Amino acid sequence: MTVPLLDLQAQYAPLRQALLDAVTRVCDSQRFIGGPEVEGLERELAADLQTPHAIGMSSGTDALVAALMAFNIGPGDEVITPTYSFFATAGAVARLGATPVLVDSEADTFNLDPAATIAAITPRTKAIIPVHLFGQAAELAPILAAAAPRNIPVIEDAAQAIGCLYHGKPVGSWGAIGCFSFFPSKNLGGFGDGGLATSTSAELAHRLKLIRNHGMEPKYYHHMVGANFRIDALQAAVLRIKRPYLAGWSTGRRANAARYRALFADAGLTDVVLPVEAPDRTHIYNQFVIRVPQRDQLRAHLDAAGIGCEVYYPVPFHLQECFAGLGYQAGAFPVAERAAQSSLALPIYPELTEAQQAAVVGAIRTFYRG
Ligand SMILES: *Cc1c(COP(=O)(O)O)cnc(C)c1O
Repeated sequence: MTVPLLDLQAQYAPLRQALLDAVTRVCDSQRFIGGPEVEGLERELAADLQTPHAIGMSSGTDALVAALMAFNIGPGDEVITPTYSFFATAGAVARLGATPVLVDSEADTFNLDPAATIAAITPRTKAIIPVHLFGQAAELAPILAAAAPRNIPVIEDAAQAIGCLYHGKPVGSWGAIGCFSFFPSKNLGGFGDGGLATSTSAELAHRLKLIRNHGMEPKYYHHMVGANFRIDALQAAVLRIKRPYLAGWSTGRRANAARYRALFADAGLTDVVLPVEAPDRTHIYNQFVIRVPQRDQLRAHLDAAGIGCEVYYPVPFHLQECFAGLGYQAGAFPVAERAAQSSLALPIYPELTEAQQAAVVGAIRTFYRG
């Protein structure tokens, strides 16, 4: 049995007609920029995410860039980010000419270490970007408590965690700005690129809207130098069809995670470290990432067996060529480096069947036990 890492066809098939109808509606309107689909999506997601303001963006990366721009972050400014995340988190900082200040991860959850984050604060720190990695909430409370008295904005990178709760409230609504992605492999994926920025502040929301559209208000009067960070009406229409299913899909991912736990326990695979769920920090499993010895050999074994898997992420930021100028050395962040060497993401998409999951665990068992 072959098991793909992600099967978007399985999600598409039952929604196909509704999605095509939505795309057709936009085509028939010939209204592709802004308009009712974008406004509708923003209204609906603001309600879901329990935040007053949601602003559609061209991607999760652009949402991060726009968030940093909303605080005028640029050369000479420091922004604290985890070293272990998808590239965009630190890339957004560097693109604005600011300096990413990297911190290590927690030993158990892959998320940034709050104590290390607070220790990295300097007088030049202009923002902190916690990442809710793989769909699990980062430990925000100590970071928010340290940032508030220093007036340092917290920008949540919630690209992998839409609908995930921290202490019962959706991530993205805790910091000054929350950034989300609709990249097709995220829990709510579009038909291409798209993103969202959320804020509880009307003033920041207004700035984000200006930044998204060349700082322009009204037409051809520019208050600031913004960019084109707009989401397309076609993407918004597709996302509005999928949005009502998101909660169910995340429940399905969680159920699959629970099933993996039972299957791994039955298989007696004690050398496989399963994802840790910290209390009050729900996990919606955008990725189900295990930690294993001989990771690269296991990966080759699974590839050969037709089992999809992926390494998120093989190289932490501090060891990336493009960040050599930041001056970090190998060994600087041992937890992240160990994670980069041992982590392996397994298929977790909601439509995965029990038989497929048994095949995944069976193939891993064969690798370790023969
Ligand atoms: C996907 C992702 C992004 C970027 O989102 P895009 O929509 O692909 O630009 C940023 N941060 C993290 C953690 C991500 O996983």
